[in-house]
Amino acid sequence: CGIVGILGKHEVSPLILDALQRLEYRGYDSAGIATLDEGQIDRRRALGKLINLSDLLVHEPLKGRAGIGHTRWATHGGPSVANAHPHHKGRVAVVHNGIIENFRALREELSADGSEFTSQTDTETIVHLASKFLDQGMSPDVAARETLKKLEGAFALAFLFEGEENLMIAARRGSPLVIGHGQGEMYVGSDAIALAPLTDLLTYLEEGDWAVITREGAEVHDASGNIVSRPMTRISQQN
Ligand code: GLU
Repeated sequence: CGIVGILGKHEVSPLILDALQRLEYRGYDSAGIATLDEGQIDRRRALGKLINLSDLLVHEPLKGRAGIGHTRWATHGGPSVANAHPHHKGRVAVVHNGIIENFRALREELSADGSEFTSQTDTETIVHLASKFLDQGMSPDVAARETLKKLEGAFALAFLFEGEENLMIAARRGSPLVIGHGQGEMYVGSDAIALAPLTDLLTYLEEGDWAVITREGAEVHDASGNIVSRPMTRISQQN
């Protein structure tokens, strides 16, 4: 399973698909990509191998210069298109690797509040939470921060927000996640191999970190919310 995110200068869906292929070695049962097309979230998801997703993209291309992608290894909710990531609610799309341990309690709370769920995943609670916080008037970074505070468990996450073409939020607790630096482009990935064709300049997030990423760079926060400096390292090419 794996995560990819790109704030790019050109169409990102082919690049995301390529990066997902580089994460295939981790195993998965379904895959998906979401992009911002003129500010709106659009997504394609497919069961089984990535070839199914790439076939779908041939017939129904995804436009946009900002996007996130996912290969899923189902933990909560069987493999299906409805359970495949990215999950989407309101102005938020998210990809998630790991497990949200308190998802049942969150789901009950959100359902009592009127949220209607369209999947059986633990992940869907994340987009409902973030969407609720946005509706309360929070900015995307504050909504993401408040969402992260509510989550228990292990995860790597990447968020996209409608109308925010130059923003991606990434978070790491328990699952590895790396930020890649390009020239006027920024990336996130589960590992350096995923990003190898795009960049060799990486910042590894540490446990509990979350990052506000734009095409100009990344602002990393630690678990207690302090802005922290994480080293940028150049890794040797591993194509
Ligand atoms: N727990 C999530 C799900 O079942 C994410 C699984 C994964 O790590 O791919 O959808």
